[in-house]
Amino acid sequence: MAADQSHRFAGPADLHLHSNHSDGTEAPAEVVRQAHRHGLATIALTDHDRTTGWDEAAAEAARLDMTFLPGMELSAKHEWRSVHVLAYLFDPEDRALRAETDRIRSDRIGRAERIVRNIGRDYDLHWDDVVAQTTLDATVGRPHIADALIARGIVRDRTEAFDGILHPREGYYEPHYAPDPLTAVRLITDAGGVAIIAHPVTTGRDRMMPVAFIERLIAAGLGGFEIEHRENTAAGKKVLRDLAVKHDLIVTGSSDYHGGGKPNRPGENTTSDEMVARLISRASGSAPRYP
Ligand code: AMP
Ligand code: FE
Ligand code: FE
Ligand code: ZN
Repeated sequence: MAADQSHRFAGPADLHLHSNHSDGTEAPAEVVRQAHRHGLATIALTDHDRTTGWDEAAAEAARLDMTFLPGMELSAKHEWRSVHVLAYLFDPEDRALRAETDRIRSDRIGRAERIVRNIGRDYDLHWDDVVAQTTLDATVGRPHIADALIARGIVRDRTEAFDGILHPREGYYEPHYAPDPLTAVRLITDAGGVAIIAHPVTTGRDRMMPVAFIERLIAAGLGGFEIEHRENTAAGKKVLRDLAVKHDLIVTGSSDYHGGGKPNRPGENTTSDEMVARLISRASGSAPRYP
């Protein structure tokens, strides 16, 4: 399929963008317009644990003659590490995957309430403040709590919130349910999608999964890694590049744009046309939307 279809899209491609259906600050159509303004021709919307932004984003991409790949960033967990698995071109109606994302999203609500209750012991912050920062029934996360802290004048921006009150070391943090990465990769692959580990080598407590475990993910169907991402370390990227060559994997580069919620700009990292073609040819769950 890729060979026939590859002429139908052209880069630059940014395959990791968030809207207000999760923790981005802009509606899906606005995310697409921002991507277009930054010179992108191919994009994916990858909201955390949900697919409800696809239709709006796809319609705007069509209007702007851009290629749209349906995507999602699935929350997973390996031991204490939060692991994010990007999922592309899967079937959004797949029952097992939907059951898992429903479970993650509903558990995230109780978890966010627990974090807010913890913070409320020391600061003037209430659950209503968080609800006020959440559009639709967006996937709730710490970024929405950060926005509530900003609205209350307790911190200046999301970065300050994450470096302080929301950081696990401060003692307010609570975990949420997430599948282990092997389950995540299998669910995505079984739904006809391609699983790519997002920002696999960030510093701090989320540091890289052991290589032996990553090789188990590869055996379970992992498609590749997001290597060019501002939070990946140089040393980690080298390990990933070597692994990608050894196992003939897909490698991507992306911005992880969150609108005004993070400094990341659309297109600050991009994915090559060759890799986009490989993603498309490997997937069978849903079709890319060409201009
Ligand atoms: P959660 O999944 O609720 O624990 O929150 C993690 C989310 O917070 C990630 O998806 C990131 O997009 C976002 N995030 C992490 N660190 C920062 C930061 N320093 N500034 C803004 N957003 C962040
Ligand atoms: Fe996010
Ligand atoms: Fe992520
Ligand atoms: Zn992301």
